[in-house]
Amino acid sequence: MRGDGRKVNTGVLILVALLGLVLGSFYNVCIYRLPKGESVLWPPSHCPKCGRHLTPVELVPVVGHLILKGRCRGCRAPIGVQYPLVELLAMGLALLAFHQYGLTGAALRLLLLGSLVLVTAVVDLRHQVIPNALVVVGLVLAVILQVVFPDLSWSRVLLGFAVGGGFLALVAVVTRGGMGGGDVKFGAVLGFLVGWPHVVPALLIAFVSGAAAGIVLMALKLKSRKDFVPFGPFLGLGAVVAFLWGRELITWYLGCFLP
Ligand SMILES: [Zn+2]
Repeated sequence: MRGDGRKVNTGVLILVALLGLVLGSFYNVCIYRLPKGESVLWPPSHCPKCGRHLTPVELVPVVGHLILKGRCRGCRAPIGVQYPLVELLAMGLALLAFHQYGLTGAALRLLLLGSLVLVTAVVDLRHQVIPNALVVVGLVLAVILQVVFPDLSWSRVLLGFAVGGGFLALVAVVTRGGMGGGDVKFGAVLGFLVGWPHVVPALLIAFVSGAAAGIVLMALKLKSRKDFVPFGPFLGLGAVVAFLWGRELITWYLGCFLP
């Protein structure tokens, strides 16, 4: 999708950065609790080791991590670098979305897509699962966004949904379970968000990058042929790249074949 050149001023971008950090902090809660089937709204954030509740200052994204020097004050258990990293990535995503597209539906669509990809990728890397709750919430928000900001036509988003989910379902059948059901559902939602024809380069990038990563991991002897490499992060990468540069990629690709 192209930016429409609507500029946002510095004050708005600072607010957007703060919003990104707060969202990132919430995504950490989702990443930690969703695979366990816990509520993301209650109870408030606590140390997973000793149960100590975090004070308001410690809850401040990134800063809280620096104050705690990466350890729980109660039991000194280390807190993963994943937490500030996710917060910074969410901030970068929010800045990119609103800087690129201004205060528009396209910015919100990119924010939703990137957020879904961020949370799903970390969960899939850590637990080799894509929770249904993520896919369902992602789809509901995507439909609401489509109703409020129909900047892509309904036929394009529904075709994206069908092609994304349908193609991956076909791969799952042909490879007899080489592709998980979570990947199929995730691919359908990503297809809805990027729409047709962007879903095509999204899938292409996912398979090429996934295969390349598999080859590198095998060459480095980090994984064997039988090991499972989560596909969710590659689907997410493909969707985000296709969202940002899909039109250019399709034009370039067709240009290679058409005179
Ligand atoms: Zn603790």
